[in-house]
Amino acid sequence: MKCFLPGWKRILPQIRKFVIFTFDDGYKDNLLYAYPVFRKYNTPFTVYVTNSFPEKYAILWWYIIEDMVLKNNNISYSFSDCSINADCATYIKKETAFSSLRGLITKFNEENLENELTGFFNKYGYGISDFNKEMTLTWEEVTQLARDPLVTIGAHTLNHYNLCNLTDEQSFREISESKRLIESKINCEVKHFSYPLGMYRTRETGHVKNINFMTATTTKTANIFSSHIDYPFTLPRISVNALTTEKVMTLQVNGFFPAILNRFHRVIH
Ligand SMILES: [Zn+2]
Repeated sequence: MKCFLPGWKRILPQIRKFVIFTFDDGYKDNLLYAYPVFRKYNTPFTVYVTNSFPEKYAILWWYIIEDMVLKNNNISYSFSDCSINADCATYIKKETAFSSLRGLITKFNEENLENELTGFFNKYGYGISDFNKEMTLTWEEVTQLARDPLVTIGAHTLNHYNLCNLTDEQSFREISESKRLIESKINCEVKHFSYPLGMYRTRETGHVKNINFMTATTTKTANIFSSHIDYPFTLPRISVNALTTEKVMTLQVNGFFPAILNRFHRVIH
């Protein structure tokens, strides 16, 4: 989680402690559950939108495999270049199976992703577009959020591909077209970007800079320091998810958790 306020470069060195809240992808629960809370406390936040979410063609494979692993005791399938045979009989094994599947799928060639996954999902009773309609924001909802001065809409690519798997041209297009299309929908400049799956290389940070984004966020876990002003395209964040307990969140908010994780070294770039 993280977030960026207008003029943050100017104010950052002057403030001691701050928190910025961001949400990746463009899920409907950002509007239904998070937005009312942030509005109540008059707190700004950022939503990085993947265009395929409101366009309704996103493949939410991470939710499909999560549901699949939870509902099955064993998962096996032969993809074109690899296969999986995962024991999912216990909770711990389900965690391991999910990680294995996630690792496998993030290595797939993005152009073949739908072909690779369709047969796999069908075998276990899922469709390629399952979870999409009910879980993702529509453009009307994105625009509704964008109208509120508390909300910043950022970009998160067209298709949520692992950018490192793409050609130079594809990677550039995923980043630049997502910005252009969101701006055309919400009628407002998009200045901030988040790398899908936290995957990026020097090439991607160069694209983001050349496309005139002001900042880009990663999934590196670390605190933000004033010296990040010189490295605005690889900003770390602190993930909050369903497994984050209240105790852990307290340690995240006071900065101790990331400090311990990084052995008290400042992760700047
Ligand atoms: Zn994402």
